[in-house]
Amino acid sequence: MFVYADNAATTSVSKTALDAMLPYLTEYYGNPSSLYAFAQKATEAVTEARATVAACLGAASPREIYFTSGGSEADNQAIMSAARLGARKGKKHLISTKFEHHAVLHTLKRLEKEGYEVTLLDVHEDGVVRLEDVAAAIREDTCLVTIMFANNEIGTVQPIAEIGALCREKGIPFHTDAVQAAGHMPIDVEKMNIDMLSISGHKFHAPKGVGALYCRKNIPLFNLIEGGGQERGKRAGTENVAGIVAMAAALKESVDNMEEDSKKMIAMRDKLFAELSKIPHSKINGSLEHHVPGTVNMCFEGIEGESLLLMLDANGICASSGSACTSGSLDPSHVLLSLGLPHEVAHGSLRLSIGEYNTMEEIDHICQVVPQVVDYLRNMSPVWDELEKGQRPHLI
Ligand SMILES: *Cc1c(COP(=O)(O)O)cnc(C)c1O
Repeated sequence: MFVYADNAATTSVSKTALDAMLPYLTEYYGNPSSLYAFAQKATEAVTEARATVAACLGAASPREIYFTSGGSEADNQAIMSAARLGARKGKKHLISTKFEHHAVLHTLKRLEKEGYEVTLLDVHEDGVVRLEDVAAAIREDTCLVTIMFANNEIGTVQPIAEIGALCREKGIPFHTDAVQAAGHMPIDVEKMNIDMLSISGHKFHAPKGVGALYCRKNIPLFNLIEGGGQERGKRAGTENVAGIVAMAAALKESVDNMEEDSKKMIAMRDKLFAELSKIPHSKINGSLEHHVPGTVNMCFEGIEGESLLLMLDANGICASSGSACTSGSLDPSHVLLSLGLPHEVAHGSLRLSIGEYNTMEEIDHICQVVPQVVDYLRNMSPVWDELEKGQRPHLI
């Protein structure tokens, strides 16, 4: 049996998205910047997609949507824009959290090198940032608060509306990386007082390489890419017309089916939690109360996450030990460390991220294979041997 359980890394393109995009690769391939009627088909498609994305995010106007090459670019542009704007007013302090995606953390690192100050908030043991911590970190010279909507490794959801209200009250721009939330959870930038928000198509069944930045109309964007006047002069480069059309179609489809899909995914996720928690010396990472429908993250003591992944792969299961971006390095995930987990425990992590296309039969297969593999690896592990003999203490 083949089971794809890594939907937080990327997803397949839905039939709806594929059908929507194909004509813009073949029939209507005109450049939206060209003046002849033939190219107008492409222009109209981008205009319509912008309105669809705006509606799905609760934006007041389609003019607040800027198409990008993905979530990383949207995060970079949002943060760099707020930083440049802040500097003009002598405000060079930014607030974020320890467990953001690297697209956010590395952009903040760059700003630190340029002389900005960054406060990274704790996310506590449950992976949820506290409103009072945000409030306490705000200073006279704070120019941005950027806090992710849902974490990509452990699936915890942050109190975004509350943080939005606080930032609005203090007059500080608020950005959220909503890449893991868009299409999976209700988002309303107006009601939630979000000023900037990043999404990425390939996390909700659109192709890779297309995303969007929502930016409230009173916030001037700073260009990362100079060139032509596309995206109202804020993001140069010929539009990825087919990708944009697909993203809008996929987002609308996900939003339309959200209630039904969430129910199905939560049932599968909860089965995984229930079954895999029966493994001795295992631990669920992140609050279950504030959680996206599809993500399961657990640690199993005495094993290496990488070995676990290879053996799951041999059993047809695609999973991850954290984020796809950090795999390849042997450092434990910064997200798990931010929860206060010891290195030894964080090394034995497993992320299963399920999507609406998964089935209960696949979940049953995972529930059967994971305990066997954990058992097998523990039997081979000298560390587990020492734990069992009481030569070192169990940490979970
Ligand atoms: C995947 C992801 C990104 C990056 O999006 P790309 O489109 O792959 O650049 C950013 N933030 C989060 C939380 C993600 O999960």
